[in-house]
Amino acid sequence: MEPDHFERKYHLALERMEREEASFRQLEEQLRRVASRLLLLARGRDDALDGLLERVTDAVRRSSAGAGLAPLVDELGDAVARLDGLPRQALAGGAGTQIGPSWPEALRETLLRVVLIPSLAEEAVDIRAQLAATPADDEAAMPVLAEAVANLVNRQRDSLRADIDNLQALLEQVSGRLEEMTHFLEMGMQEQSLELAEGEALDTTVRDEMALLNQTARDATSLAELQEQVSSRLTLIDQHFREYRERQDARAEEFRARSASMQGRLVELETQALRLQESLAREHELALTDPLTAMPNRLAYERHVDEVHRRWQGERQHVCVAAFDIDHFKAINDSYGHAAGDAVLRIVGKALSAHAAGRYFIARYGGEEFAAVFDGLERSEALLVAEDLCRAVAGLGFHASKRPITVTMSGGITCFQMPDTPAAAFERADRALYEAKRAGRNRCVMV
Ligand code: GH3
Ligand code: MG
Ligand code: MG
Repeated sequence: MEPDHFERKYHLALERMEREEASFRQLEEQLRRVASRLLLLARGRDDALDGLLERVTDAVRRSSAGAGLAPLVDELGDAVARLDGLPRQALAGGAGTQIGPSWPEALRETLLRVVLIPSLAEEAVDIRAQLAATPADDEAAMPVLAEAVANLVNRQRDSLRADIDNLQALLEQVSGRLEEMTHFLEMGMQEQSLELAEGEALDTTVRDEMALLNQTARDATSLAELQEQVSSRLTLIDQHFREYRERQDARAEEFRARSASMQGRLVELETQALRLQESLAREHELALTDPLTAMPNRLAYERHVDEVHRRWQGERQHVCVAAFDIDHFKAINDSYGHAAGDAVLRIVGKALSAHAAGRYFIARYGGEEFAAVFDGLERSEALLVAEDLCRAVAGLGFHASKRPITVTMSGGITCFQMPDTPAAAFERADRALYEAKRAGRNRCVMV
């Protein structure tokens, strides 16, 4: 062979090899993408498959020679078939197909296995037919088919992701409802309007429904079925809660109405009690008031003098008592009539009350007699006041048949001294009064 001829042939062969190498690189790149997508898709499903995929990827990265890769790809096919529960024979290419040592054949075999994965099989019918009909060394068609398989895998992955998102949304819905129910139950407990037996019954019902919900989740064979079952169970639980709430609301409403009516009754009773209290106070007032003169009566005097006496026993302040009696009152009655006598009593009483003016206590003791308590006055002061009172009565200008009539009053005064009781002191004052009468009336005697 001539040297230049040999050289030309060598160059031609080199060019061909370079072309082949370029197309190998293209295929190799394609296989890398498929391998990495498979790795992504299948990762975590099966440990053996994960390992194999790693090794395939490594082999692809390490070397451009297909020989070492072929057994790996074959193993990968087995692992995928195992994973999908497919008999090895079902794979395209026939049972135990010996993968050739060439890269294109290995790629074609891998793509065929991918399109046989059950979840992809339906959508991949066309690609599968095209792969089966396309020779592995069809350099134009194989990359396009590999791209189509990769897209299919991506679509499947996206749809899986959408399913996972849906499932997540469903779970969020379920836990949201549960949270709402828990909150409601806690509120009910706090309000204490939750009837115990009824609350327990609801609790049991919800627990049963939740158990059924759990069972449903385990038994469901598809996401759609699961969603439907979960929503119908949730609707049931909702219904239980609604009914329970309605009963609670009705009970609360009844309670509100009852408490409103009780409130009304309470206001009524309070008004009645107030009225009773007022009338009692009036009765009390009347019991202590003389109706003719509107002065305190004998009972009022006795109460007052008892109270002052009690204090006197502790404090020993000056206390004097006085008894007054209108002089010859019988004659007034006899001369001008009982009504005139009453009028005289009223006027005398008014004058005595005005004179005392809250400083001393003075009462109508009975008939035409009056009794006074001079609290805080010593003997001489008490006598002066008593004489003032008698003077005030004598100074009243009475007239009968246009003729002036003089009405006078006598008084007996004494001061508390040990061991006086109020009655003993009054008796002494009465005796002093008698003396005043005897001494000529219209005067006061102090004992
Ligand atoms: P002395 O100066 O001794 O007190 O003479 P007196 O006439 O005032 O004494 P006596 O006790 O004899 O008379 C009191 C009279 O007062 C007898 C009674 O009929 C009359 N009397 C008592 N209470 C009333 C009353 O409320 N109204 C009228 N009009 N008279 C009464
Ligand atoms: Mg009299
Ligand atoms: Mg009298």
